[in-house]
Amino acid sequence: MSALLSVQGLRVEIARRGRAMTAIDDVSFEIAAGEILGVVGESGAGKSVTGTAVLGLLERPAYQAGGRILFDGRRIDTLDDDAMRTLRGKEIAAVFQDPLTSLDPLMTIGDQLIETIRTHLDLTPAEAVERAARLLAEVGIPAPRERLASYPHEMSGGMRQRVVLALAFSCEPRLIIADEPTTALDVSIQAQILDLLRAMCRERGTTVMLVTHDMGVIAEVADRVAVMYAGRLVELGPTAGLLGEAVHPYTRGLMASIPDMHRRDAELAQIPGSMPRPDAPVPGCAFHPRCPRALVRCASERPPTFAVGASQVACWLADPVARSAA
Ligand code: SF4
Ligand code: MG
Repeated sequence: MSALLSVQGLRVEIARRGRAMTAIDDVSFEIAAGEILGVVGESGAGKSVTGTAVLGLLERPAYQAGGRILFDGRRIDTLDDDAMRTLRGKEIAAVFQDPLTSLDPLMTIGDQLIETIRTHLDLTPAEAVERAARLLAEVGIPAPRERLASYPHEMSGGMRQRVVLALAFSCEPRLIIADEPTTALDVSIQAQILDLLRAMCRERGTTVMLVTHDMGVIAEVADRVAVMYAGRLVELGPTAGLLGEAVHPYTRGLMASIPDMHRRDAELAQIPGSMPRPDAPVPGCAFHPRCPRALVRCASERPPTFAVGASQVACWLADPVARSAA
């Protein structure tokens, strides 16, 4: 398995009133070519910030304070804005929650597709139109040729997100960062968009980092799952394994919330309490105030990452020393 994306010891800080707060703390993971990695956690866990760092779109007061990001073996977190802009759109594409942030309300969807295609691919105008219409057909837009002349506001939310997918795939990117791509949509539409995303990626071998608060989405689409909590990676492993037997109590809490989370906007009611914010970090394991299985040491000692089968788990319960003593 060769990694297309490798995030190594990523650290992101937020400068506020002369203080540096830690938003992402030593996060490392890889995504193999063609793999779909789900990144899950409650809002504020650092999932989007991680995706934003990969896209090279961190903005002050947030900045990368440590670590490295490699794309296809090449370091990209040190590229200048121009080089990064070229990489985005061509090799790395983004899909966000609200289609209207990706689409220009004043341009027809045809013009937007054609402009993106012609910026990155060497095609004649006629070829670009042809390609745009084919993409709309592929994402399931009826009468694609006529639809090229439509404006985003003339389409439903689900149709707009299909157009966003067409836009994301228009230059055949190798990596897609999708941040809550279906969260704004009705449940019935969510599944269709996820199926479409998965099918298009599988067909092309596109690699995906899928950011979501919804473990149900992960269960449907992801090959592996990275669980984040308070800016750290707490569990990383194959989806099937995590669905069957997650080790980290936070992951277990997320799993327990799957049925409810298919309701739109449902929060993680099964885990009482709330996640610490970067301006009020918790010592030891950041999850310990909420953890139903916390040990005495959890309040003061931060757990390192242990290997458990095919997974990595940052929890003292996974400590082989403690486990063999138990
Ligand atoms: Fe719970 Fe301790 Fe594991 Fe943290 S390290 S998740 S507090 S058992
Ligand atoms: Mg987010």
